[in-house]
Amino acid sequence: MLVAPARAWNVFQQIFAEHWEAFQHAHPRYQTSYYDGLVAKMLACGNPALMGYVEYRCLHCGQGAHRVAMSCKSSLCLRCAKVYVDDWVSQMSKMLHAGVIYRHIILTVPATFRTTFYHNAAVLLSALMRCGVQCLDDFYSEVRGKALQGGYIVVLHTHGRNGQYHPHLHLMATSGGLDRQGQRWEHLQYLPYALLRRKWQWHLLTMLRQTLKTDAVHQLVDACFRKYPNGFVTNVQKGAVPSQYQSLARYVAKYVVSPPIAVRRIDRYDGARVTYHYRSHRTERVEPETVDVATFIGRMIQHTLPKGFKRIRHYGVQATKTFAKVKVVIQAALAKVEGVVKGAVKIIARLTYRQRYEQSTGRDPFICPHCGYEMRVWRIWHPTYGVIHDEGEVIKQGTYASTAPRAGP
Ligand SMILES: [Zn+2]
Ligand SMILES: [Zn+2]
Repeated sequence: MLVAPARAWNVFQQIFAEHWEAFQHAHPRYQTSYYDGLVAKMLACGNPALMGYVEYRCLHCGQGAHRVAMSCKSSLCLRCAKVYVDDWVSQMSKMLHAGVIYRHIILTVPATFRTTFYHNAAVLLSALMRCGVQCLDDFYSEVRGKALQGGYIVVLHTHGRNGQYHPHLHLMATSGGLDRQGQRWEHLQYLPYALLRRKWQWHLLTMLRQTLKTDAVHQLVDACFRKYPNGFVTNVQKGAVPSQYQSLARYVAKYVVSPPIAVRRIDRYDGARVTYHYRSHRTERVEPETVDVATFIGRMIQHTLPKGFKRIRHYGVQATKTFAKVKVVIQAALAKVEGVVKGAVKIIARLTYRQRYEQSTGRDPFICPHCGYEMRVWRIWHPTYGVIHDEGEVIKQGTYASTAPRAGP
């Protein structure tokens, strides 16, 4: 994690440092140790004295030193979000099936139900993700006229572009699926969108009715069937997504895993109001927005998911558990299909701290600026466990043969 703090990042921390307590008083839902922990970690992120650090020193000339603060990995931390996205792109690039066409499909929840989702997040958000997968399997099966199982990387978003609560699913979906015998890969070139919209309406409303068995929800569901006879908003991005693995993973990351408000987008904070900007779907332009500080905190915190919740899940032929086995089957099934697109398989390596630092500053953090030799781990310090490694002690004891780790945290 880079230690050099950006101005916008400081502003973000400052807003929480000054107003978190008052916000909690006004919103008792957030008075839990879980949310306190997220905020405390985020506020300490990048501070070596609070988070712990790894210190590198030049053992050649004795002058060079570099300290790497541990990152907080709090889901509220916009600073750690960038690393999270990069790691995810790397992981995802290993999880795609060569030769399979993927589509980017968006399934939304109508405005009537957004409050219902907000208040029942713990049960509804997981159900929503499963429901999207069932909907697509059902849709593909109906289009082809036989049972198919597709593969889905599903990402849950709870925010719209300007940070408001707007739960929806992004699915990286195989365009087709395996038949029930696991023998044939059925590629679907044409997807009838009108059918998808009606399927999504049926699956979503049925899930709501079965999950929340209250009269109020039943009435809302009935009203919704009447109000939207053509189904709900679904969006299939035009054309297949890029077939090359690297660009596909980047494409997904851009659309899908970015945080609700990128930290560089905070333009002004005067102690009471925050101005930031976002790209509007409606106008396709960058729009500024000014809100009071409580609204801003609310918009940021409402997108942190319930404890332990996995925002990205893999289903069907993308399921992590069966991926290796299914991969062989798919390759065999694809071999029978003519005209398969051969995408270049390029797996994206996870960047180390050293590489990230070099990318953003153009300088290798572990090369001594005085003599050009590579620096070594000198000390590792953790706020709870104290000194974990001390190279100076090792040298003093005369047993110098360093086994210290070389990579950063
Ligand atoms: Zn952080
Ligand atoms: Zn040196």
